[in-house]
Amino acid sequence: MAIENQILTVHPNLKSILELSKTQLLTYLEELGQPKYRAEQVWRAIYREGRTSFDEMTNLSKDLRGLLAKNYSIGNATTLLSKRSADGSTDKILFKLPDDELIETVLMRYEADGHRKGRKTVCVSTQAGCALGCTFCATGQQGFRRNLTTGEIIEQVLTMERLARLEDQEEINSGKRSKGELQGVTNVVFMGMGEPLANYENLIESIRILNDPIGIAVGARHITVSTVGLVPGIEKLANENIQINLAVSLHAPDNETRSETMPVNKRYPIERLIEACQYFVNETNRRIFIEYVLLKGQNDTSIHANKLGELLKNLLCHVNLIPVNPTGKGPYRRTGYKEAQKFQSDLKKFNVPSTVRMEKGIDIDAGCGQLRDRALALEN
Ligand code: SAH
Ligand code: SF4
Repeated sequence: MAIENQILTVHPNLKSILELSKTQLLTYLEELGQPKYRAEQVWRAIYREGRTSFDEMTNLSKDLRGLLAKNYSIGNATTLLSKRSADGSTDKILFKLPDDELIETVLMRYEADGHRKGRKTVCVSTQAGCALGCTFCATGQQGFRRNLTTGEIIEQVLTMERLARLEDQEEINSGKRSKGELQGVTNVVFMGMGEPLANYENLIESIRILNDPIGIAVGARHITVSTVGLVPGIEKLANENIQINLAVSLHAPDNETRSETMPVNKRYPIERLIEACQYFVNETNRRIFIEYVLLKGQNDTSIHANKLGELLKNLLCHVNLIPVNPTGKGPYRRTGYKEAQKFQSDLKKFNVPSTVRMEKGIDIDAGCGQLRDRALALEN
């Protein structure tokens, strides 16, 4: 098909080009009579160079740029709110999607220390809302709205990637970073709003796009998927043959305690969940992260710690102990740092390694689903 014949159609609602896989982009451009390398050029311009309009893609003909712009947009989310924490380490963006759904994305900056290079981690949402109703979670309290598309997941990272690269460039200009060292986003965690394994296909497709070496190029080992514990999803992920990290939100050492805060436990009780974790470890040879939100008086006593040690002592895992980020509606309070350390020392007796994590960005409500809550509260 010649370009001239195509240019005439103007779509009122442009489709986001971020929804296309590389193969789909290739097919589309081939249908327009474009050579094969064109898809690679467009892909690179979007994902590596972070172009925000087709007009900037000056290595394409004017006709092709015009045609692309008439048919596609590069993403379709609007930034509604953007906040930075007082210490400058954390940015949070509230995006509005074309159907008015609101989702959140967080960028966390970690300075280099003796052991590790500096990192920039993006926390992405996979659903608008969530159906799983964990009682301590702001997203859970909002209920389920819908799955995000692959393009909507990717756009969150892409927006943060542009920002991260801009910061790199500023550091290069001021001599703080060596020339040519544009690092951008180094890690992605699927720990924003929603349950990633309940949006499985779009999750996997977005991981493929993130992974692409001529794009954002985040290595699989730098990607973490956090799940509430959907057993079939964990098993499926174990069989994918990708070297990503899995984090499992356990938050309790026994069925009775877990069912009190996590309704999903009735469907997939702890025994089945630990079996699935073991399967994941066997198939991937990778250590699992066990997320344990400390809820004062609910799951943070020595009895709980000892039960947890017993439960996990034979699993290749690392436990992250996270004092809860209290939500507007929730009844929970944070466990103090001292008590968290005591919990940690109880676990140590079982040789279960753990870290106490004080969450970043508390002052900008960077806990799961909290900025959206704040924004809605402001609207009401
Ligand atoms: N649905 C997935 C991923 C999104 S939630 C999951 O549940 O794992 C990401 C993490 O934030 C989970 O470990 C979740 O339990 C935790 N979380 C939810 N609400 C929280 C809160 N108020 N304070 C601290 N962590 C919270
Ligand atoms: Fe959903 Fe995860 Fe929140 Fe539970 S913690 S309600 S699974 S987003």
